Amino acid sequence: MNKILVTGGAGFLGSHLCDRLVAQGADVLCVDNYFTGSKRNVAHLFSKPNFELMRHDVTFPLYVEVDRIFNLACPASPIHYQFDPVQTTKTSVHGAINMLGLAKRVKARILQASTSEVYGDPEIHPQPESYWGKVNPIGIRSCYDEGKRCAETLFFDYFRQHRLQIKVVRIFNTYGPRMHPDDGRVVSNFIMQALRGEDITIYGDGQQTRSFCYVDDLIEAMLRMMDTPADFIGPVNIGNPSEFTMLELAEKVLAITGGKSRLSFKPLPEDDPKQRQPDIGLAKSSLGWEPKVALEDGLRETVAYFRGLVSGDK
Ligand code: NAD
Ligand code: UDP
Repeated sequence: MNKILVTGGAGFLGSHLCDRLVAQGADVLCVDNYFTGSKRNVAHLFSKPNFELMRHDVTFPLYVEVDRIFNLACPASPIHYQFDPVQTTKTSVHGAINMLGLAKRVKARILQASTSEVYGDPEIHPQPESYWGKVNPIGIRSCYDEGKRCAETLFFDYFRQHRLQIKVVRIFNTYGPRMHPDDGRVVSNFIMQALRGEDITIYGDGQQTRSFCYVDDLIEAMLRMMDTPADFIGPVNIGNPSEFTMLELAEKVLAITGGKSRLSFKPLPEDDPKQRQPDIGLAKSSLGWEPKVALEDGLRETVAYFRGLVSGDK
C-alpha cells in the first residue's frame, strides 16, 4: 500500500506536492478546509483515479488509513495567518496533535512543513538548524511562529515518547504558480501590482532581505526528505540561499513584467525580520539536494501564471 495523506493539499505548496505524488503513482488523499487553498488548485487532478479530495479541518480528528502523511495545513502568509490568529495556533498545534495521533494509530511516517519563522528575527546569519531563534512570544506573528515551534516540539516528543517516524523540514520563503494572488506575500504582491500598473509597495526602506526558493525545487527536497532513512528526522532547512533585498526583487519583477509601476514606501510591519537566508549544508549532505532554479527563471514562470489570472484565463 502506498496511500499518502497531504493536509493543506489544496494550497500553494500542497497542490504541487499532490501533482508530484499523483505522477509517481501514489494513492493521494488531499485534505483541506479551503481557508486559503481552493479546489481550483487541484481540479486538474480530479480525473485521476489515484487522487481524492476531502474537505476537513485538521483541528478536528481524522480517521483514515494511510502510510505517509505530509502535514502542510496552515495559512502561511502574514495577512492570512493574522486574520484569525487563534485559529492559526489551533491549526498548528491541534492539527499537529491530530495528525500525530493518526500517524501513531496507523504507524505512518509523518513529515511536518515547519518554517524559517521558527528562527524569528535571527541574530545569526545564515541560519543553521542548530540556531534556536529569536522569537517574540506575544507579537502579531507569534500565532504562526510559536504555533509552528510548538508543532516541532510535539513532533520530537512523539518521536521520543512513541518512537514515531517523523521528519521535519523548515521551509524558507517559497514562490511560484498557484500562490494566492491576494495573500500579501512579497512576490505575489509585487507581481500583481506590476501587472495591474499599481504602485509597488516597499515596506520600510526595502533593504531587508529574503531568500526565495522556486516551488519545484522545494517539493523535490520535501519528497527526498520523506524517503530518508528512519533515523534521519531533521529538522532540515530547505530554501534557496541566494539572498536579495526587497528593492532588488522589485527591480527584477518590473524588468520581467515590463511594468512601469512606481515604488511606494510604506511602514515596516511589526516584528518583520531584517534578513533571512538558509544555511542548506545539511540538506545538501543528507538529501543530496540543492536548488536549481534561478530567481529570474522562477519569476518568469510565476509572472506567466499571474498574467493568466489577471486576464481571466485561469
Ligand atoms: P497556503 O496557505 O497556500 O496553503 C495552506 C493550506 O492549508 C491551504 O490550502 C489552506 O486552506 C489549508 N488549511 C489551513 N488551515 C487548515 C485547517 N485547519 N485544516 C485543513 N486545511 C487547512 O500556504 P503554502 O505556502 O502552501 O504553505 C503550506 C505549508 O508550508 C504551511 O504549513 C506553511 O506554514 C509552510 N511554509 C510555507 C512557506 C512558503 O514560503 N510558502 C514557508 C514556510 C513554511
Ligand atoms: N514586503 C514588502 N512589500 C509588500 C509585501 C512584503 O516590502 O508588498 C516585505 C515584508 O515587509 C518582508 C518581505 O517583503 O520584509 C517578505 O514578506 P512576506 O510577507 O512575503 O514574507 P515573510 O515576512 O514571512 O518572510
